[in-house]
Amino acid sequence: MILMIDPILRIENLYKSFGALKATDDVSLDLRKGEIHALIGPNGAGKSTLISQIAGSLKPDFGKIFLDAEDITHLSVAARAVKGLGRCFQVSSLAMPLSVRRNVMIASQAITGSSFRFWKAVESDQALIAAADEASNMVGLLDRADVPVSNLSHGERRQLEVGCALALKPKLLLLDEPMAGLGAGGSERLTVLLESLKSEIPILLIEHDMDAVFRLADRISVLVYGQMLAQGTADQIRHNPLVREAYLGSIDSDSPDLDSLNSESLNTDSSDRSPLNLGATKGVND
Ligand code: ADP
Ligand code: MG
Repeated sequence: MILMIDPILRIENLYKSFGALKATDDVSLDLRKGEIHALIGPNGAGKSTLISQIAGSLKPDFGKIFLDAEDITHLSVAARAVKGLGRCFQVSSLAMPLSVRRNVMIASQAITGSSFRFWKAVESDQALIAAADEASNMVGLLDRADVPVSNLSHGERRQLEVGCALALKPKLLLLDEPMAGLGAGGSERLTVLLESLKSEIPILLIEHDMDAVFRLADRISVLVYGQMLAQGTADQIRHNPLVREAYLGSIDSDSPDLDSLNSESLNTDSSDRSPLNLGATKGVND
């Protein structure tokens, strides 16, 4: 048997119900070093619920979560972040009047509990400034370090969110629909950025933009009604009959490959638990 390298993140038989609704129904997956693992599925499939359980803001009913072989199932959000679980900050948590650099510095301090020496440190800590600039550089924003966030484009703010997460030197990144609301140029830049990061920081990526998913993902997990429908390489998922059925509602041997589908052939109902929209249009945030 081939020896497998320990995954950086492992989820074992996770369950989470909201009343009668099984939002996470026996889900297992792992994230390996050097990879982007995409988690896809229709709206309401339980993708964000899964990410919240990994990040620690939602407690699973049953199952275990391991970070670097350590059981973190019962740790707080902050404890997980300190151990290297990187979750992206939302745009709404960025301080608009402050510069890119200041935002990254605040993010890197927020989690370490050093709020008492916070302002002094932000003003004078050279190590902190250097770390912030390194993170800004990784997301292509170093030349914008002194620019107030309010002057950044939407796409640049997304890059900054990733930068804020990177400032904590995470072992991995959890990203929930980072392309949502971005135009073609912004999505392209973010795609290139994520591609450049993955060798250093593996990424668990929820994304509706199937172009980005098939370009970026080394492996894909498909979640439907809280259950794992399929897992495999991008190629295996693209040709998996169960996945095609979940996306299309029927299996048709003449249907085109998943990646060549266009939105007209798809149900674009955005209500909960709608069929998966493979042709997710860029710029639409559901
Ligand atoms: P996805 O991210 O795949 O679109 P979610 O994880 O947001 O799906 O939601 C999965 C299901 O769980 C949905 O039916 C949603 O309405 C439900 N749900 C999510 N969070 C809660 C909550 N806090 N309370 C009750 N139901 C929830
Ligand atoms: Mg979601």
